[in-house]
Amino acid sequence: MIIILKPDTAEKEIVPIYRMLEENRIIAQEIMGETTRMIGMAGDTSSISEDSILCFSCVERIMRVQEPYKLAGRKFHPEDSGYDIEGKRIGDGAFAVIAGPCSVESEEQIMAVATAVKDAGATFLRGGAFKPRTSPYAFKGLGLNGLELLLMAKKATGLPIVSEIMSVEFLDAFAESVDVVQIGARNMQNFTLLSQVGGLRKPVLLKRGLSSTIEELLMAAEYVMAGGSGEVILCERGIRTFETATRNTLDVSAVPVLKAKSHLPVVVDPSHATGYWYYVEPMALAATAAGADGLVVEVHNNPEAALCDGAQSVTPQVFQRIMDKVGRVREAVADG
Ligand code: PEP
Ligand code: MN
Repeated sequence: MIIILKPDTAEKEIVPIYRMLEENRIIAQEIMGETTRMIGMAGDTSSISEDSILCFSCVERIMRVQEPYKLAGRKFHPEDSGYDIEGKRIGDGAFAVIAGPCSVESEEQIMAVATAVKDAGATFLRGGAFKPRTSPYAFKGLGLNGLELLLMAKKATGLPIVSEIMSVEFLDAFAESVDVVQIGARNMQNFTLLSQVGGLRKPVLLKRGLSSTIEELLMAAEYVMAGGSGEVILCERGIRTFETATRNTLDVSAVPVLKAKSHLPVVVDPSHATGYWYYVEPMALAATAAGADGLVVEVHNNPEAALCDGAQSVTPQVFQRIMDKVGRVREAVADG
């Protein structure tokens, strides 16, 4: 980090800045330009907030040289991370497909979808038991019963379970039943939830917030990792833009950008990104070609009757076709 001082800063104004840096065990080095005076800092600056420096009246601005995400960043962890989760693998060359309904609705539904996605080659089963809905009157999931049904589906198919947690109240229930704890877009900056889910020390699927920057997503991952989880999976699921033809705008470039900045696996959710089932296939292929480590796809055995997100849910038949084409895209873009 570099502190740029205002012109004509008096010597005595700089003294408290040096004192503060010394207290935080930061090595400070004054840099004299022709017209600008600066203080360069070396050491672990993560404990110093930008605010605590900007509040000195002689400071004009500060420049960060290093990213503030030390655990999620690639700098101190240059190799790609890959995780073994209940016999399935994701990241570091392993492509994972997390598929299933938006929400668990009944035993028949989750069993039918789980079997279909497994047969098509999915590696994880997703299904919401607690749903974040815009309207308080909409179906909000089966709650703990939904988790029970997911466990039944896991028993029948062997697919590990991914499900979203919305409240710290259910940490124990998720610790016992879910293999990958999902943090949804709406909770990406619920910092208490991030830390406490990290404390479960389980794999975490972290979805990008609706209007969050890549840096904010990586800082959210940092919270989860600082909380204790070493296995975070980042998910690009579309962001808010002026465009209304799709539910969100899939930021495909987030895949190479995240992979450049972070060692964590990156998956893409073309279902929530587009909002329409017929756009899921082309965006799944685009994400695969862009280098994603996996996909999150909403699949329903009867989308027209779905209690949540039916319009963006593909049938098992369409899902099978997507899986076949994704396999061919992966072969086409493989190295060598
Ligand atoms: C979901 O995965 O079901 C979901 C609600 O996604 P998001 O948080 O990305 O909107
Ligand atoms: Mn959904």
